[in-house]
Amino acid sequence: MKKNLDTICIQGGWTPTNGEARVLPIYQSTTFKYDTSEHMAELFDLKAEGYFYTRLANPTTDAVAAKINALEGGVGCVLTSSGQAANLFAVMNICEKGTHVLASKQIYGGTFNLLGTTLPKWGVECTFFDPDAPSEEVEKLIRPNTRCIFGETISNPGGNVFDIERFARLAHAHGLPLIVDNTFATPINCRPIEWGCDIVTHSTTKYMDGHATQVGGAIIDSGNFDWEAHGDLFPGLTTPDESYHGLTYTKNFGKKAYITKIVSQLMRDLGSSPSPMNSFLLNMGLETLHLRMERHCSNATKVATFLQEDPRVAWVSYPSLPTSKYYPLARKYLPNGSCGVVAFGLKGTREDAIKFMDNLEFIAIATHVADARTCILHPASHTHRQMSDEQLLEAGVAPDLIRLSVGIENPEDIINDIKQALSKVVK
Ligand SMILES: *Cc1c(COP(=O)(O)O)cnc(C)c1O
Repeated sequence: MKKNLDTICIQGGWTPTNGEARVLPIYQSTTFKYDTSEHMAELFDLKAEGYFYTRLANPTTDAVAAKINALEGGVGCVLTSSGQAANLFAVMNICEKGTHVLASKQIYGGTFNLLGTTLPKWGVECTFFDPDAPSEEVEKLIRPNTRCIFGETISNPGGNVFDIERFARLAHAHGLPLIVDNTFATPINCRPIEWGCDIVTHSTTKYMDGHATQVGGAIIDSGNFDWEAHGDLFPGLTTPDESYHGLTYTKNFGKKAYITKIVSQLMRDLGSSPSPMNSFLLNMGLETLHLRMERHCSNATKVATFLQEDPRVAWVSYPSLPTSKYYPLARKYLPNGSCGVVAFGLKGTREDAIKFMDNLEFIAIATHVADARTCILHPASHTHRQMSDEQLLEAGVAPDLIRLSVGIENPEDIINDIKQALSKVVK
């Protein structure tokens, strides 16, 4: 039976058989026992499915991965120990020394550093493009060694909406897959695969968990990209893997080639698997994702509208506001709501912004976004402090930008806290 997303949030992934635990159990075990050495050998050869070591697969983690896979509509999903690891693996599964990534410049600061600073040291170059530029301009940045295009559905922290369909078309015209980080939208508000995206990534640390209890990531494979049609670009998928007795991922695993290689090669060699306990916590969050997203969006719309109408506020960026530059894209990709993150700037100095934040009562200054509690951050002084003002502007982060992650408390209380802090700072 085909199920709706809210049912999958609750029921997906774990289907107990007669007498089994109703709630997903925590298999807090590194190892799994087999009766014969032959059975174990088949597992190692990827000939049989089963668990043997939690770095590669664990029943708790697998159940949660299956739920997220169903939510995004993919053919397979791998959970990682962080969102950073998810984006690293998603890119490095198809890139190697001498290749190139084309990434939107409006992305999370951690991903910007990963692609712009760390991967070049490993021999993978990156060019950042302006996702608001015409396709012909972005197309000029594609090189013979480019292996993927990367973007974020809703950028953190700017709240810019990525035109997934347009960039999928551009990527496919050049035989490249499109990778989209869907952390802020979540599959409740946008399913990038339906718009032509090939690989979806997540920091599950954010809305999916929703309670700020675990750091985690996910990679979902649409199964739609034809790696063999562009085999010369992706030899890692289309030619024999000597570290696996010469099996070829596309031949042996078909539509699941990409996601299988992530587990059997990258997870095997680099680690970064989540703990079963964290997968359990993530699953608890997922069970209410559909309810929480609805409330995050309605609260954030109220807060953004209040901010927009307040004379002490210089500007507000929230994609679901009709005045937003991204409203047309938000209506297309995020018709039911975008997310709870609102960016804004105050009239006055940078010091006024800091004073405003220090005067908030229950809205906490926290290096986090997208959980149940409303929190606030000044990227230029916190998360992005290693970037120059110029780099900040390049990444779509104004130096005066305040990132407010609207939680699921009572919206009047949230607005009242903002009001009282504003009154102490700006006239
Ligand atoms: C937080 C975040 C990441 C990194 O995730 P971690 O779980 O903190 O490693 C990646 N992408 C986006 C959009 C994020 O918000």
